[in-house]
Amino acid sequence: MNPTLPYPWAVEALRQAGRVTRAVQQKHTTGALTKADRSPVTAADFAAQAVVTAALLAHDPTARLVAEEDAAALQAAPQAVRQAVLQAVHLVHPAATWPQLLTWLEQGRGAPQGRFWVLDPVDGTKGFLRGAQYAVALALVEDGQVVWGGLACPNLQLPTAMQQGVLAIAARGQGAWVAELFAAQPRWHRARVSARRAPQGARLLRSYEAAHTHGGLIEALAAALGTREPPVRLDSQAKYALLATGQAEVYLRVPPPQRPDYREKIWDQAAGALLVEEAGGRVTDLDGKPLDFGQGRTLAANRGVLATNGLLHAAVLQALRQLAA
Ligand code: AMP
Ligand code: MG
Repeated sequence: MNPTLPYPWAVEALRQAGRVTRAVQQKHTTGALTKADRSPVTAADFAAQAVVTAALLAHDPTARLVAEEDAAALQAAPQAVRQAVLQAVHLVHPAATWPQLLTWLEQGRGAPQGRFWVLDPVDGTKGFLRGAQYAVALALVEDGQVVWGGLACPNLQLPTAMQQGVLAIAARGQGAWVAELFAAQPRWHRARVSARRAPQGARLLRSYEAAHTHGGLIEALAAALGTREPPVRLDSQAKYALLATGQAEVYLRVPPPQRPDYREKIWDQAAGALLVEEAGGRVTDLDGKPLDFGQGRTLAANRGVLATNGLLHAAVLQALRQLAA
């Protein structure tokens, strides 16, 4: 079945960004720069942001965009990186110039208020650099609520004929859908969370990077639930795509012990959270509160994230309370 999803141009933009980032990852030439917060950024991040911004402005020149990367960082980058970004953008916009590219990148500094788009051009940059999982994540927020979300996961494969990357789209009230990202004629399939109810059968997802979560607490939760399977580690919002398609039941983001006050960035969670909800799951913070995307660039009113298939949500919240997490 091919659903009529809103914002088809955004779906196409995610495909373009998927192609652009895949090309950069395969070439593997320029490596990473380090941002002020010590996190890495690559040519793929800038190129994907430019391509998605171009699509957004073509469809809605007045749209507000909150995107992770900024033009100044690219201007300060070595020549080889700047060249790699322009080359990657040329895969989609062969005539794009350097000033045009900078203009696109400058559009991502909108205020996170009212109605705005939020973009993580490469979520899971560390996974991207390892040749592993990453996602291009785009979402539309209205008054603190995500109303549309899309993920392009070029390296993700799902069972059932999903071998060429995964494109996952959710629209509030209209469900969650997945298709192959790179297929010539992709067919959409409805995404649904798993029907497992028994805590002992729960499959857990967690960040690959130890510094992005609290491994000890996740191990303790797994033991409290009595699950047999070790938590699966992977980068990026690809974790939400696995949860939304029934490949796992529980995804936990816990502030790391060395940064208990860490608050999640909105672009790291918006698209994935709606995807899980529209696939029939539940998403809250670790205290059971709904996520509030109207607090600025971070989920300032929430601590961590708990996403589940819904059926296991109460059991996990209770186990977390008992662990005093
Ligand atoms: P993951 O792929 O699950 O490791 O999540 C990737 C995201 O984690 C990145 O996009 C970062 O914005 C975010 N991040 C960076 N530092 C931390 C931290 N200390 N705790 C939680 N998330 C973080
Ligand atoms: Mg990210």
